[in-house]
Amino acid sequence: MNAEIISVGTELLMGEIVDTNSSYLADELAKIGVDLHWATKVGDHPGRLEEAIERALDRSEITITTGGLGPTSDDLTRESIAAVLGEGMEVQDDLLAHLTSQFESRGVKMPATNIKQATLIPSAKVIPNPMGTAPGWWVEKNGHVIAAMPGPPREISHMWDNEVGPRLRSLNPEIAIVTRTLKTFGITEGGLDEMLSPLFESDNPNLGIYSKQDGIHLRAIASASTQGEAQALIEPMEREIRKIAGHAIWGEDDDTPVSAALDALSEKDLTLAIAEGFTGGLLSSTVLESASASGVLAGSIVVTGGDSDRLILGLSVADPDSPQPEDASNLALAARDRLRADIGLAMTPLVSRETGDSGPVGTTHIGVATSDEVFVRSGHYPTRRLRIRERAVTHALLELARCLETGSGGHESRWG
Ligand code: ATP
Repeated sequence: MNAEIISVGTELLMGEIVDTNSSYLADELAKIGVDLHWATKVGDHPGRLEEAIERALDRSEITITTGGLGPTSDDLTRESIAAVLGEGMEVQDDLLAHLTSQFESRGVKMPATNIKQATLIPSAKVIPNPMGTAPGWWVEKNGHVIAAMPGPPREISHMWDNEVGPRLRSLNPEIAIVTRTLKTFGITEGGLDEMLSPLFESDNPNLGIYSKQDGIHLRAIASASTQGEAQALIEPMEREIRKIAGHAIWGEDDDTPVSAALDALSEKDLTLAIAEGFTGGLLSSTVLESASASGVLAGSIVVTGGDSDRLILGLSVADPDSPQPEDASNLALAARDRLRADIGLAMTPLVSRETGDSGPVGTTHIGVATSDEVFVRSGHYPTRRLRIRERAVTHALLELARCLETGSGGHESRWG
């Protein structure tokens, strides 16, 4: 089956919001074996929206729209689908009662404009949206499917998981899809591509390579008539990838750097203390966002290299403008001992230096103090790049997980 996504909203064309819905849906469609052939962005303009829907119906089996299901006059997705299919929108009593009660439960009177959110055309069925007020439409007509979904990303993901994904999967019951994502860190995309080049020639399983904030992901997708057969196709490819690039693989599927680090700590029943310079609290707050951090994170401190750090940590940290690797080990040991944890994780402030054409590059040193050893690794980040703090957080967490897992550090990080 093939599909087309239409992301609706003038703000997408004005650059005010980024179309993350279509990348989310593209990823999900691939997982269920639906080939995405087109993704279009179109403004809140009835003529152009109708044209986009008409074209999608001509060339794609499945059309998924996101956005434009709100109550206002510029939310036109329903009207446009109805116009293209030549059907009239009718208010549904049960939908209207449900919508009215949603407003009443919030102590608000429903504005009359919201009534259009309680409409259907004859060939549409409602897609419930417990996360918002705009229900979706599931339309099946002349061998085509249209799934009209709202705009807000959390509504989309809930609706996909519970309604649209399962419905699309059931349209193709004879195909079973198995996906496997292996997550790497410390090797560049080009390097991995070269190491694994013969594997990228395979059609089934198909192997994709994606650069993400937490490293380079390798995703294998296999399709067959049963889950078991699809699994059997994936396994040799996974074994081969692990044989070639296993040293760089830190996780799979839904693993995150935080879950990798916290799982490694919890497995050994260890607590963690953090002293972080360059990331200024981001490392601690990233850990704290995970529900499993409680009971594991004993404490954290943001270091600047100033007097107060020294006082609290009982240390004399060297020149704050030029922290050395040994500062990371001192900080990690001090965090571990002063905050009474089993493991200390430390990151020094960033030291910048010019590197000619490539601009300023910064180095941080990451220290991990276990009960009997201290490991130090360095991260080199171009300071002009955005989001390098997130990169450094990822690096520190994966370094911690690696030290706990193997008893040695592993990743030298350069921005790849
Ligand atoms: P609602 O009325 O419930 O807000 P809607 O279907 O009318 O839903 P829109 O008004 O088009 O949706 O968008 C609502 C919000 O959803 C936008 O302001 C934006 O924050 C987010 N959003 C919309 N489309 C996208 C998209 N393609 N990618 C990411 N976010 C989006």
